[in-house]
Amino acid sequence: MSKRIVIALGGNALGNNPEEQLLAVKSTAKPIVDLIEEGNEVIICHGNGPQVGMINLAMEEASKSNAIIPEIPFPECNAMSQGYIGYHLQNALREELIKRDIKKPVATVITQVIVDKNDTAFQNPTKPIGAFYTKEEAEILEKEKSYVVVEDAGRGYRRVVPSPLPIRIVEEDIIKTLTKASHIVIAVGGGGIPVIEEENSLIGVSAVIDKDFASEKLAEVVEADYLIILTAVEKVALNYGKENEKFLDTISIYEVKQYIKEGHFARGSMLPKVEAAIKFAESKEGRKALITSLEKAKEGIEGKTGTLIV
Ligand code: ADP
Ligand code: MG
Repeated sequence: MSKRIVIALGGNALGNNPEEQLLAVKSTAKPIVDLIEEGNEVIICHGNGPQVGMINLAMEEASKSNAIIPEIPFPECNAMSQGYIGYHLQNALREELIKRDIKKPVATVITQVIVDKNDTAFQNPTKPIGAFYTKEEAEILEKEKSYVVVEDAGRGYRRVVPSPLPIRIVEEDIIKTLTKASHIVIAVGGGGIPVIEEENSLIGVSAVIDKDFASEKLAEVVEADYLIILTAVEKVALNYGKENEKFLDTISIYEVKQYIKEGHFARGSMLPKVEAAIKFAESKEGRKALITSLEKAKEGIEGKTGTLIV
């Protein structure tokens, strides 16, 4: 039976530079089109950590060394990353669809996501982005640009930005309309461009929304049956990487909550996925969330592998 599926793509679906990305999206397109070929409606979301970092860094360096090049604010870098990733993804999907004789247009929607200006994440920035600095450079940036700069695992100093929770997807009606018309939509890229609503205006903020939480929001909005989070591992594990590691198949929300309490899932990597999966499965009767690898997406949806949260 045909299902509506939101697919969240992780870092391994895209690679780290334009050359790698152009190659990676070709393989990424295959399992996605497998699902489309089977009659499912698919909406695609993706992360942008390395890409927005790269763009931000390039812009910073360019404006430092060339007076003609202006400083590009972070929300604009976020928007650029959505365009650049969407461009590659939509072309790879288009090519794979044509190969299989499926006539469906693909579009990327530049997506803004409203965040709460009182979100506690703004008091506690956690997401490292862009270049590494020396201690002296870091102090200057903190003073002159009010950046928050922290020491990053012995590798130098790095700017960190807040990672607020998504409240509402501004372009949700457009995404729904395109999906209903059987078009393939890439949306909420990099978790969306975080914006704060002020009267009639949307003001971009220097922050990165976690793509796992943003894709969960998207899945609720389009009333998806499935949220599939595709990452580097085939299944979620207990005691990950340890001798007594145990991979999980189908698990209940209740069980996962217990495992979270026991500390099985790493912050910033598996924990947000598991939390997003719970939120989606809890949002309405019958909704399921699957965490698996890109390569196993098709088998996962057939119930043959992956970790399913119900
Ligand atoms: P993505 O770019 O897809 O968001 P992340 O690196 O953020 O990928 O998260 C996926 C990673 O989480 C896996 O590659 C794995 O190394 C790590 N991980 C942490 N805890 C677990 C766990 N309990 N089970 C499986 N993977 C885990
Ligand atoms: Mg991640």
